[in-house]
Amino acid sequence: MNRTLFSALAALLLVIPVLAHSASQQADAEATPIGYDAVLTPRLGSDGEVSGIAVVLTLDGGLTDGETRLKLTAPVVYVGAYGVADRMGELAVRDADGPVALSHHDDSEAAGGFPYLRHWEAQREVQFPVQVRYTAATEPHTDRRGPPFNIKPSKGGVSGSGATFLVLPENTVSTRSRVGWNLSAFGEDAAGIASFGEGEFELDGAPGDLWHGWYMAGPVGRYPAQGDDNGFSAAWLGDFPFDPTEEMTRAARGYTWLGGFFGYLDPPPRYRVFMRIVPYPIPRFSGTALGGSFMLSGPPNGLEDTGGEPPRGTIFHEMIHMWVGGVQGPQGVTSWFSEGLTSYYTMVLPLRGGFETLDDYTETVDRLPERYYTSPALGMSAQAITEVGFTNNDIREMPYVRGNLYFADLNARIRAASNGRRNLDDFMRELFERRHNETGYTFDHEAWVAAISTELGAEAGTEFQARIIDGEVFFPVAGTFGPCFDREPASYETESGAVDGYRWQRNDVPEERCAEF
Ligand SMILES: [Zn+2]
Repeated sequence: MNRTLFSALAALLLVIPVLAHSASQQADAEATPIGYDAVLTPRLGSDGEVSGIAVVLTLDGGLTDGETRLKLTAPVVYVGAYGVADRMGELAVRDADGPVALSHHDDSEAAGGFPYLRHWEAQREVQFPVQVRYTAATEPHTDRRGPPFNIKPSKGGVSGSGATFLVLPENTVSTRSRVGWNLSAFGEDAAGIASFGEGEFELDGAPGDLWHGWYMAGPVGRYPAQGDDNGFSAAWLGDFPFDPTEEMTRAARGYTWLGGFFGYLDPPPRYRVFMRIVPYPIPRFSGTALGGSFMLSGPPNGLEDTGGEPPRGTIFHEMIHMWVGGVQGPQGVTSWFSEGLTSYYTMVLPLRGGFETLDDYTETVDRLPERYYTSPALGMSAQAITEVGFTNNDIREMPYVRGNLYFADLNARIRAASNGRRNLDDFMRELFERRHNETGYTFDHEAWVAAISTELGAEAGTEFQARIIDGEVFFPVAGTFGPCFDREPASYETESGAVDGYRWQRNDVPEERCAEF
């Protein structure tokens, strides 16, 4: 239920810190000139579906110190999304002196679907402002499995991430961007919405930040019908096998509840959900979170894998990402935290908040140890798992599973060590607040080892290295899944023979106590 394929790398590469803007920062921002101005015009093909997005960029602000030729870039491959730069047609650059010829070269190919870039370089000096025009074609149907980054048509509209249709300058002075829409291809009630805002929006920071958001335009369905519900809103394209309004009403309640639970972002930032129906080779929905938003994507038969259950666990999981955030460290290796802790909270919080039943929780408790002990990545180091990348999903999911089990075990031990006065939530809340508020605090693996050693003793730091980084097989303590489940030895069959581990069985502690841990 909480399987969210492909989001690990996405979250790692793309987590945007939640920025709090003070009034004075906003006043400064208004004085900052726009260095990157994009107008997005979706174009319809003869079938009435969006064939591409025509983009007109106006670049201003001049080149950075020491640079002599304007350079532009776009991904050849983005995170598991192929063919990006190849679908950007008729790229043309001009300034006051007329057309500017470009040369281009590609970085060497990265393995496993990891991003690598194409670079264009102007063949003469340019005068600012510079205009860049091209059309980014939508990705045709493919049987490739991957995250929903590429722009795709659905139900007369278009959606995808900024990284798959926005060309960026590599060497201009630009600290504020503006993006607007031309929706003339659509009917009256069409909308253009991004993670950063609806309609035209401006964004502080380098233009590259625009890659890390979702965009959707066309005749979208929406929740609520107008504006937002306590900072939450959703937009979608396609005919869903569940009632999108009902699920988004529930998600909005979940968002408010999660805001209260995590507490440290108060009030919770503006949040946007995007959902799209697109052809996909497996009958399942998956989610991918970017800053303050996620995209839920799946085919028309996307509930087949869950026996008709809407993807509620995935929706919770993606929203939880915003509060869990990330830990600093080597790319990919840090997903024990971003995905592991998000998976842990996806397992326990819907039960605690009354969003799911004990049966749902029991199902996860049944499956999690089995997924761990039978994983082909059991015993693999975090680095080795990262290198497998998108080529093997059973291996790639291990940081979700191992991290989830690691945090569940820590929770039980923190409770035991403090005689029930503290649990993992108290411990994490302190770290989240430091990460969010404390200038100069670096939340990295070293900081984690220091914090967990203070809480549980020095061996907890050594154990982190062994279990999470090196991949040593471990055995969670008896109370790991709360008072309603007892640990018993279990032998798991795998392709390489039997593996000894544990399973947890429902005992006779009354149901009303099961969420007390
Ligand atoms: Zn995730």
